[in-house]
Amino acid sequence: MTRYDIKCPICGCWNRALDLDDSNNRMECADCRQDFVLLRISKTVAIPLVTQEQLKLIGASHDPIASVPKTA
Ligand SMILES: [Zn+2]
Repeated sequence: MTRYDIKCPICGCWNRALDLDDSNNRMECADCRQDFVLLRISKTVAIPLVTQEQLKLIGASHDPIASVPKTA
C-alpha cells in the first residue's frame, strides 16, 4: 500500500499520507472539505535547470523561434 501527500489545488493545504488505492483516487481536503478525483499520480523527478548561457556553451539553442527557417 502506498501513501500519498497531496496538496489541495483549492486552498493549498497538504493532505498527508492518503491511501488513494483504497479510495479510487478520490480525496477530500482536510481543510476546505472540497473533494477531488485525482486523474494521475506521478512521482516527482528533479529536472536540472540549464541557463541560456550554458546552452550557448554546448552549442544548443532552446529558442523555438531561432530554429524556424526564415521565409522572407
Ligand atoms: Zn483544500
